[in-house]
Amino acid sequence: MNLTLRGVTTHNLRDLDVELPWGKLTAIVGVSGSGKSSLAHDTLYVEGQLRYLETLSPKMRPWFAGKLVRPRVRWAAGLSPTVLVAQKAQSFGEVTCVSDALETAYHLRFLFTHLARIRCPECGLEAVAADAAGVAAHCAALPPGTKVWITAPFEREPDAALVQDLLETGFTRVFVGDVEHDLEEQAPLPRGPFSVVVDRILAREGQLARVAGSVEQAFRLSGGRVQVRCADGVTPFSTRPQCGGCGRVFPARSPRLFSRDPDAGGGCPACGGDRLVDGAPCDACGGSGYAPLLSAYEVQGQGWPAWQELTVDGALARCAGLSTDAPAVAGLSTDAPAVAELETDTPAVAGLLAPVVRRLRFLADLGLGTCACRDP
Ligand SMILES: [Zn+2]
Ligand SMILES: [Zn+2]
Repeated sequence: MNLTLRGVTTHNLRDLDVELPWGKLTAIVGVSGSGKSSLAHDTLYVEGQLRYLETLSPKMRPWFAGKLVRPRVRWAAGLSPTVLVAQKAQSFGEVTCVSDALETAYHLRFLFTHLARIRCPECGLEAVAADAAGVAAHCAALPPGTKVWITAPFEREPDAALVQDLLETGFTRVFVGDVEHDLEEQAPLPRGPFSVVVDRILAREGQLARVAGSVEQAFRLSGGRVQVRCADGVTPFSTRPQCGGCGRVFPARSPRLFSRDPDAGGGCPACGGDRLVDGAPCDACGGSGYAPLLSAYEVQGQGWPAWQELTVDGALARCAGLSTDAPAVAGLSTDAPAVAELETDTPAVAGLLAPVVRRLRFLADLGLGTCACRDP
């Protein structure tokens, strides 16, 4: 079978017809400006990538698509998904290139997104995120008969427009400090942060579903926070991971976080993720390009930057040590795809591990086991 392209007019190519044999190494040669890159990079590679994308669910496509511009081809046949190894003059980059081509780092990011535990650097305690079921369980464990308010906290002060909005949505009571106020009385409220009463209950058995529903409502109202109030005090919960000791809130786990993009929170703020390798390595991140914060996100007791320094063999050993119990998925950023999006019909951890281990084994089989598996 051959790979056939007809009527290629990408960039400077003029209605070119090409037939390339499968399973053979093909070199495209020509003088500068004759369209070698237009054919190889901008047509063959991009067309192959686009065909691969079309096999993915629409939700997953933006993760892979980047800035692919569909090449101008009249007809193409025999194309498979493609891999592009960058054209670079370098002598030690082969491992990085192969690992990069296999998208090992990409799958490691998913692994961290779903499995990383966040250890507060100040307290050493695990930062955990709340979900509605967890908050409901907390309420259910209170002594029967305890009077409980489920409230949604706001940072801003309640102005007339906000009070009107709340009344129209059916919320009539708020706390300012420890004092409950009835909005329908239209009396001026004291200044200061306030919280909206979403539900009032008497703790007793058999109301988990109702409480969970109210908690969800409070999360929506306040952007992911809820307070459980009773006579003993206020217990705050957040959908973002929070240290139980010092209260520090950590960014939710997402594939974007585990990148060197400073805008996504994972890039080193000092060097902007650039590592400054050609001059002097950046002091703040030790030349890794990652925000020091990412060291707090651990899988198998090692933070994200430390995983990047593991050899292929070392990473394989760590993967082998991972238990395949269900992962804690609370505290994911909303841009994190669910495990089920990646591979279906497999237990969650196994589904996340399989693509990483497959790629690492391939590198080890190539004799690259002692090389670093870092994100290039
Ligand atoms: Zn802490
Ligand atoms: Zn840096």
